Amino acid sequence: MPLINTAAMLQHARKNHYAVVGFEPYSIDQIQLVIEAASEESAPVILQLWSEVIVSWGFKLLVSAIRSLAEEVPIPVSIHLDHATDINLIQGALDHGFTSVMYDGSALPFKDNVEMTRRVVKMARPYGASVEAELGIIGFIGDFKNVDEARIEIARHLTDAATAVQFVQETGIDILAPAVGSIHGCSMPIALVDVPRIREIAEAIGIPLALHGGSGVPEDTVKQAVEAGITKLNIDAEIRAVYIRALRKAVDEIGKGERDTIDLARCPCKIREDVKPAVKAIFRLVGSNGKAPPLIK
Ligand SMILES: [Zn+2]
Repeated sequence: MPLINTAAMLQHARKNHYAVVGFEPYSIDQIQLVIEAASEESAPVILQLWSEVIVSWGFKLLVSAIRSLAEEVPIPVSIHLDHATDINLIQGALDHGFTSVMYDGSALPFKDNVEMTRRVVKMARPYGASVEAELGIIGFIGDFKNVDEARIEIARHLTDAATAVQFVQETGIDILAPAVGSIHGCSMPIALVDVPRIREIAEAIGIPLALHGGSGVPEDTVKQAVEAGITKLNIDAEIRAVYIRALRKAVDEIGKGERDTIDLARCPCKIREDVKPAVKAIFRLVGSNGKAPPLIK
């Protein structure tokens, strides 16, 4: 089916107490395997792209690949720009038909974050695209010496509900990414997420909430977070690790020692079959499996 507005998708998730997964593909075959897995699970899905991936492939190829694959499956698919700080990149995403964009002003003082985010909301409205923004600092595991230091530092920049309400009111955003203890870039579940804080923010702001760094959150906590009000779960590192292992395995098995002349045509199919179960498991974890039919009615 045609692409769908991201916020509309998340509003359905919010009313029905599940989350939509935002996957971070790095290549065209990853886009294909995510859409195929989502279709087989009858799950709505968000393909989210960040600046380096757009530099590698270009807007045109990425959007046409997602569009043409989405048109062949009976599930809602949206294209999201992840963590953008560059207004020109955001304009490019809107011009190429992204259904949502994230402006990340989390490094700015509150007032400047509000001002820039409001500007992006104004840019997105004529396109009918949704806007996600970050408040507090979610953080990246690679910026810390060890897990303990990461947990301590991240706990110092969490989002509080009153500031979240003010931010949402002053910016007019559709989706909020609060800092609640999750950490970007972890392929192991080591984050300590503040679930009561998620509940408090969700009840106070009344718009969909995104949990970033989902790969670093233990499964039980993901379930609790969804129950508390998370409606978009971002997954990157976990699936990236599964994909890289599958890629190495495919090269070893298909190559049979002839590593420089392996049959590359066979690699994508083999990798896809190895990675799809891990992707499907995440739809089931957040309860989005089987949610496509009511959403497309
Ligand atoms: Zn993120």
